Amino acid sequence: MTINPELQHKIIDGKIISGTLIEQVSQSVLALNKKGVKPTLAVILIGNDPASQVYVRNKKILCEKVGIESVEYKFDESLAESDLLSLIDVLNNDTNINGILVQFPIPSHISKQKTINRISPNKDVDGLHPINAGKLMNNIECLTPCTPQGSMIMIKSVAKDISGMNAVVLGRSNLVGKPMCQLLINSNCTVTQVHSKTRDIKSFTSNAHILVAAIGIPNFIKSDWVKKDAIIIDVGINRVKKDRNETSKTKLVGDVDFEDVIDKVSSITPVPGGVGLMTVACLMNNTLQATKAQHGF
Ligand code: NAP
Repeated sequence: MTINPELQHKIIDGKIISGTLIEQVSQSVLALNKKGVKPTLAVILIGNDPASQVYVRNKKILCEKVGIESVEYKFDESLAESDLLSLIDVLNNDTNINGILVQFPIPSHISKQKTINRISPNKDVDGLHPINAGKLMNNIECLTPCTPQGSMIMIKSVAKDISGMNAVVLGRSNLVGKPMCQLLINSNCTVTQVHSKTRDIKSFTSNAHILVAAIGIPNFIKSDWVKKDAIIIDVGINRVKKDRNETSKTKLVGDVDFEDVIDKVSSITPVPGGVGLMTVACLMNNTLQATKAQHGF
């Protein structure tokens, strides 16, 4: 993405902010190593989804960078649900494993909710277990889903005190939209959540000091939908054709029409180079936090 240098100051740079977090995690991992503790993340990948394979590879590379041990369990599509649940039981009981991550999507014959429920809440580095979701709702310290956690860090990098601000979150998934709302509420924002059944979304977004878009529709948010000087967090990752005449080349865009809104807003995360980088950094952070809690630090 080429950005007009005059507008560069508006960019909430995922590379810089995730770099700082990664450095902090690396230092803490080193401190744990000195106490004889080696944080270890188990990653379970089922099937051949190319995007999942890329995500798992990126997670492994970052684990190596921060000094977290990663153990990969790869299975083909035919894996039985009972075998997955048995593996999770083994990992739950293995004191050398500190975090467990099942890469979604998983084949449809395996229940996603049963899988999430089976992971020990103490090792649930995706923060999806109902116990962690409940703790988040009660503003109790817990493993928080990585993408909303990373989005909050980005928001707070440009606005120290967001208390009393209007925040609008587009999307209501358990992975992004719902925990995002909860984090914003816990920071004293006035939060509105909109979704596919919402009437007149623009009437909400145009009054938002903070707008978080997580719906998976390319360039959905245009400039007349956003409030002047809003903070925009674009979670969406959408692959689109590079130009109308080009059939083979593609590029990544967010849910927000970056070029259309950048003049009007105060800050915005780019896609790529924004929230996605924070998500993996926060996974490292969650693995670190899980390890510390399991060892009573
Ligand atoms: P999801 O589970 O498919 O949820 C999408 C949400 O968007 C749903 O709540 C849906 O509403 C809502 N929605 C769909 N069409 C809409 C419309 N026209 N107007 C308003 N709301 C609409 O997706 P997700 O897992 O939350 O992910 C959302 C996006 O974020 C995707 O592009 C995904 O690739 C991306 N993502 C990025 C990261 C990252 O690290 N950057 C991490 C996770 C996800 P209903 O509930 O009414 O159906």
